[in-house]
Amino acid sequence: MKPLRRTGDTMLRCYDCAVSNAKKEAVSLCIMCGKGLCMDHAKRVDLPIWEGGFPVPVKMLKKGLPRFLCDDCATIVIPGGSD
Ligand SMILES: [Zn+2]
Ligand SMILES: [Zn+2]
Repeated sequence: MKPLRRTGDTMLRCYDCAVSNAKKEAVSLCIMCGKGLCMDHAKRVDLPIWEGGFPVPVKMLKKGLPRFLCDDCATIVIPGGSD
């Protein structure tokens, strides 16, 4: 069993990097699945405001909110969005 706490290793790590044994600090979270994402893996997308039951006063917002998604979720959420 590895110790959970080690000095200097308390940062949130990028999930996608972690699965390939890389260690990179996460700069954002995927809004869909909650993964930590580094700059390389985070996809910034300006989605239109989601209507219906969203618990913020959406009428005050004039444009889409910037959101971060992981690669997997981006392909699901962005229509026709694949590169
Ligand atoms: Zn990464
Ligand atoms: Zn995701």
